[in-house]
Amino acid sequence: MGSNSRPHAVFLPYPAQGHVTPLLQLAKVLHARGFFITYVHSEYNRRRLLRSRGASALAGLDDFRFEAIPDGLPPSGNDDVTQDIPALCDSLSRSAAAPFGDLLARLNSTPGRPPVTCVVLDNFMSFAQRVANGMGILALVFCTMSACGFMGYVQFMELMDRGYVPLKDESYLTNGYLDTVLDWVPGMPGIRLRDFPSFIRTTDPNDFMVHFDGGEAQNARLAQGIIVNTFDELEQDVVDALRRIFPRVYTVGPLVTSVKTLARPDAAAIGGNLWKEDASCLRWLDARRPGSVVYVNFGSITVMTPAQLAEFAWGLASCGRPFLWVIRPDLVTGEKAAELPEEFFAVTKERGLFLSWCPQEEVLSHPSTGLFLTHSGWNSTLESICAGVPMICWSFFAEQTTNCRYACAKWDIGLEIDNNATREEVARLIKDAMDGEKGKDMNAKATMWKEKAVAATEEGGTSKVNIDRLVGFLLEGSV
Ligand code: UDP
Repeated sequence: MGSNSRPHAVFLPYPAQGHVTPLLQLAKVLHARGFFITYVHSEYNRRRLLRSRGASALAGLDDFRFEAIPDGLPPSGNDDVTQDIPALCDSLSRSAAAPFGDLLARLNSTPGRPPVTCVVLDNFMSFAQRVANGMGILALVFCTMSACGFMGYVQFMELMDRGYVPLKDESYLTNGYLDTVLDWVPGMPGIRLRDFPSFIRTTDPNDFMVHFDGGEAQNARLAQGIIVNTFDELEQDVVDALRRIFPRVYTVGPLVTSVKTLARPDAAAIGGNLWKEDASCLRWLDARRPGSVVYVNFGSITVMTPAQLAEFAWGLASCGRPFLWVIRPDLVTGEKAAELPEEFFAVTKERGLFLSWCPQEEVLSHPSTGLFLTHSGWNSTLESICAGVPMICWSFFAEQTTNCRYACAKWDIGLEIDNNATREEVARLIKDAMDGEKGKDMNAKATMWKEKAVAATEEGGTSKVNIDRLVGFLLEGSV
């Protein structure tokens, strides 16, 4: 196929790790199906990738190119500006549309590049939908979250119309109101208010995140289709319900598994990790017994107080198991961040390993890893499912609360831990998850879901079939 007659897909992730990774995985899958790829970072992340990984991070291939557009935020010193989610969402939706339109126009007139066939945009970047459609270009939304989390956002407007949100006053956070069960949410029987994405826990009728996320979920109706990084069997009821709301729903996950068999080998080295991984932990894991290690990682955005950090630390100290704990430099809020006492390191020095960023997928699939203490981000949850590792779920914000509920109450592969968990509770849940009947059950379920995830991505599996349908639609569809 001559390069100018190839289909050309432009990918636009929301500029955070949990979005950059799955869009890159789908880009690699389409690349292997003959698409020319342009992958668009924010300027901020482009600089950051150059700093953490060097020029090779953006070298790509002749037919897999990187571009960048501004995110509109002021340049910062050492602070990570992308950690302020409301500011970043607001800034992108205000200032990135024009540069994105200019980029599409430039791509369409660049010699050697085929004209743009379609845009795959992140579910928090609906401005790109309007820009692409305005230029007559097909655009599909990529939902980087779970189907259940996405359905939560789809219901935000309804929750406001029915008077559940905003909460009447702060006492509603603790008076049992959040335990209210809603029987009308499509595909989510038994769902409680507390399981919805955490932004509903507000008393402000104009709360930015409620309106932004609720609005973006509604904007997805304008897309020519939505792509969800999940597989049907995992979330069948809610996927069916989404299919009744949105005209075309492509469930193509877990992409972390699909990409291994479907990407071209020469694209394997293309990475999007915004931090530099410390792979020395894999050798440390090699020296531990199978299934013995507690892996602790709260993702790229979660923060906690020094007191919460201390409870996790002393819980890990008293659980008696080896543990690998990733503590990002900005994990802990407050003036004197992340200062754990010498005494703690003395007690755990034989058993604990501390890093600031690791190759998570490899850690989870290492035979020594037996349990994942996680914030229930969707990528982390999927990666744990694909590795067959049970979880302790300490959800922090957004739809992590919904993922936590599904992992613990529907898939039976997780134990929920309170936001203000004590050290005793941390130690007890680790013991429950790794020993005894509960541990055995969770391990059996985790193995079952792992097998189902693999089956979905194999020839004839639902996600593989949907990738084929998606490719067919992108090649033939029109605005
Ligand atoms: N991740 C990683 N190394 C780390 C921590 C996280 O590679 O030390 C990756 C992890 O594998 C996942 C992503 O960062 O793919 C985090 O995404 P997730 O949706 O779980 O959470 P978020 O960071 O968006 O809260």
